[in-house]
Amino acid sequence: MTESQTPVAAGPEFSGLPLAPAVLANLQRLGYERMTPIQAASLPLALAGRDLIAQAKTGSGKTAAFALPLLAKLDPRSFAVQALVLCPTRELAEQVAQEIRRLARAEDNVKVLTLCGGTTLRPQAASLAHGAHVVVGTPGRILDHLSRETLVLDGLNTLVLDEADRMLDMGFADDIAAVVKRCPAERQTLLFSATYPDGVTKMARRFMRDAQEVKLAERH
Ligand code: ADP
Ligand code: MG
Repeated sequence: MTESQTPVAAGPEFSGLPLAPAVLANLQRLGYERMTPIQAASLPLALAGRDLIAQAKTGSGKTAAFALPLLAKLDPRSFAVQALVLCPTRELAEQVAQEIRRLARAEDNVKVLTLCGGTTLRPQAASLAHGAHVVVGTPGRILDHLSRETLVLDGLNTLVLDEADRMLDMGFADDIAAVVKRCPAERQTLLFSATYPDGVTKMARRFMRDAQEVKLAERH
């Protein structure tokens, strides 16, 4: 299944979740009525503030499972970066940013910025100087901005490690550790992965607090 196909969303309705009426209306407008299995398993816990290790195959709706909790906590009047999502590639970062923008309430004017390698730092630093609520990017480039102090994470409350297995495969373990060091200790950490190798478990143990595991077995 490709990521653009609609996943099976046969779980409970989103309306049972503690989400603002405007968020529920927006979900309905997007055609999201019922949750996918990973959303049904992880959203109640993540919305309650728990750290989460969630594993489900590609195309199962993992983005909304972390986007809705980070958006629920977001204060659009504050221009501090309040959520950071680490992704393995530019393409995935752009997809995640797009989905977060769709899920945000229009009236909140949530600013989502992507920061990936392969382009010059200076325009990205200029965008950061204008303020962003959510940053989505690849570990190396995020670390570059943290080292230059063009990105400051003092106001961060949610850290997401998306596609954790792929980030480890691509050799990002040290960069991720360095980024996590710059995040406030008081935060919610959400880890999403399509597979669950040992490296992911180890990373979770290092960076997460009393994390709840949510695993969905593949049905054959
Ligand atoms: P994953 O990260 O698990 O690979 P995505 O978050 O990219 O999956 O979601 C795959 C597709 O499913 C996206 O196009 C997304 O808009 C859509 N989608 C997600 N959740 C739902 C839902 N509850 N109902 C309908 N479509 C959904
Ligand atoms: Mg994904």
